[in-house]
Amino acid sequence: MEPLKIGIVGAAGRMGCMVARVAEETAGCALAGGTEYQGSEAIGRDLGALAGIGAKDLPVGDDPAGLFAAADAVIDFTTPAALLVHAGLAKETGTIYVVGTTGLGAEHEAVLDAAAAETAVMQAANMSLGVNLLLALVEQVSAALGPEADIEILEMHHRHKVDAPSGTALALGRAAASGRGVELDAVAQKVRDGATGPRRAGDIGFATLRGGDVPGEHSVIFAAEGERLELTHKAGNREIFARGAVRAALWCRDKPAGRYTMADVLGLDGG
Ligand code: NAD
Repeated sequence: MEPLKIGIVGAAGRMGCMVARVAEETAGCALAGGTEYQGSEAIGRDLGALAGIGAKDLPVGDDPAGLFAAADAVIDFTTPAALLVHAGLAKETGTIYVVGTTGLGAEHEAVLDAAAAETAVMQAANMSLGVNLLLALVEQVSAALGPEADIEILEMHHRHKVDAPSGTALALGRAAASGRGVELDAVAQKVRDGATGPRRAGDIGFATLRGGDVPGEHSVIFAAEGERLELTHKAGNREIFARGAVRAALWCRDKPAGRYTMADVLGLDGG
């Protein structure tokens, strides 16, 4: 079989460089090229050199339409604003679209749904195996413990992260809410400051820590009278997310158009 040609939008980013490295060393994959935003100093620099894997004769461009046309699959770790453009191109070209970008709202979900009518779209706030197992465990534990246990979600990330709580923390919150049969939006307590009063029964609380180079740590704490259960995942490096994204791109190859999750890719939903 021909190798899957992988395009990388946000090629000079922390994740973009990691994806280039992983795609290069993964059997069945080939690099198709990469883009950055117009005016980025990375434009014209070699994708492989940026990623530290040696020159690949693939200069980083600023034409995502060309990249989507040339690639079989495009992996997106950029920004929500850039995703709006990229999702439109996935829809136009029918290119497999793997999205790791976080901080998404309703308008981003809508463009991803529109793209998914034409091609396979895999989106996950966290591409690691461990976190996707954690999501399933949290839903189970939340259902088993019931509303007597207060749920608090603690996350820590590196100092460069621009959204909070993290997409993974919110996904864990949705899993916990789903275990109780409620919507996260109705019970989420994302900020506490000053005279907050006592904790409201049924709330799911979030606490956000930022600092250093932490790739990502999440704990879901179930605090009941007399006992506390804590489920924690610690990412040791960013490679786990890049490996998940490349695995997802390969998995999407023979899939019909539609929205997919990392649980589908990993077979955690029996898919
Ligand atoms: P980063 O800032 O290092 O990289 C983002 C890159 O996108 C930058 O190089 C930036 O210049 C580029 N970019 C911005 N606009 C662009 C455009 N219009 N076209 C092309 N490139 C553009 O950030 P990062 O740490 O690599 O994270 C990127 C995103 O991925 C964040 O939303 C982060 O939360 C998310 N993330 C998700 C996972 C996951 O498993 N899903 C893991 C890590 C990070």
